[in-house]
Amino acid sequence: MTTTPGTASATSVEDEFPRAITLLDTARTVSVLCHVQPDADTIGSGLALAIVLQRRGVAVEVSFGSPDDLPESMNELPGRDLLVPAADVRVGVDLVVSVDAGSRGRLGALADRMDAADASLVIDHHRSNTRFGTLNVVDDAAESTTAVIARLFDAWGVEIDASIAHCLFAGLVTDTGSFRWVRPGSHRLAERLLETGIDGAAIARKLLDTHPFGWLPMLGSVLGSARLVGDAVGGLGLVYAAILRSDSEGLRSEEIESVIDIVRTTSEAEVAAVLKQQPGDEWTVSLRSKTVVDVSVVATTLGGGGHRNAAGFTAHGSKDDVVAALIDALG
Ligand code: AMP
Ligand code: MN
Ligand code: MN
Repeated sequence: MTTTPGTASATSVEDEFPRAITLLDTARTVSVLCHVQPDADTIGSGLALAIVLQRRGVAVEVSFGSPDDLPESMNELPGRDLLVPAADVRVGVDLVVSVDAGSRGRLGALADRMDAADASLVIDHHRSNTRFGTLNVVDDAAESTTAVIARLFDAWGVEIDASIAHCLFAGLVTDTGSFRWVRPGSHRLAERLLETGIDGAAIARKLLDTHPFGWLPMLGSVLGSARLVGDAVGGLGLVYAAILRSDSEGLRSEEIESVIDIVRTTSEAEVAAVLKQQPGDEWTVSLRSKTVVDVSVVATTLGGGGHRNAAGFTAHGSKDDVVAALIDALG
């Protein structure tokens, strides 16, 4: 994923493990917070950590700010009984742990729980991470937050059994795009997790390869209206598509989030964008780049964040306004 698979970054994050472990070892009450519109990396990280804490006798809960329900594709993840509605997350616990969130804002309605705790621990892999915890374990060279958590577990002496492995594999397989963007060690971790007896094929199918029939006509409509702007991004090209609320009626977030993975394959464009219409005049926008463009910088400029090749932001206005602002920011 990075051109210099970072010894510097890997070394410094490992240096933070002892202090993180001390926090985790001494807390009696812990809230684990996942990012809004949760994906399998944030939920897999949160549940794996919560399973470990619960086994150690800690009063632990996991939550995310929005939406109300866990995406259906994640409803077989072990530890999901530790999930509580956002409104029920206790205020003033010993420790809050944020997993896979690059900034405070990504915690949505739960951001205030960070301030109310005695200590806050941020575990993440976003290049744009703002270090918003009292302790920050951030490795922007890591392929997933679950990969950082696996290393933390090793340092902590936690045995990774099949339940924990299932959660960690969920984040690893999704954030690596089914092991397409990997680095040295990614497959070694996958091998370790699979050796616990988990069914990797079934986990991947449930998370990534299962859609209702209505997904097909939605793709037909959305992809049919995609646009290629060859002279955008200094001539490197932008391809974009918009998912209107009318396109996605009755479909799940899984169907909506799948579209960018098709749009981004367009060979004539370095950057791909999918605009997802929200209630009111709001749009959430997914950005992907192939090689030279750092979309996390562009997304940060527009109020969002992310990784070098995958980022996002939220915008307001008409579709044309959002596209114009994006083209402008892409230069
Ligand atoms: P997505 O396109 O939603 O899959 O997001 C791609 C990457 O960008 C993920 O790592 C997200 O955490 C990050 N991201 C997406 N939307 C936002 C946002 N509004 N603010 C900050 N980061 C975002
Ligand atoms: Mn995520
Ligand atoms: Mn992630």
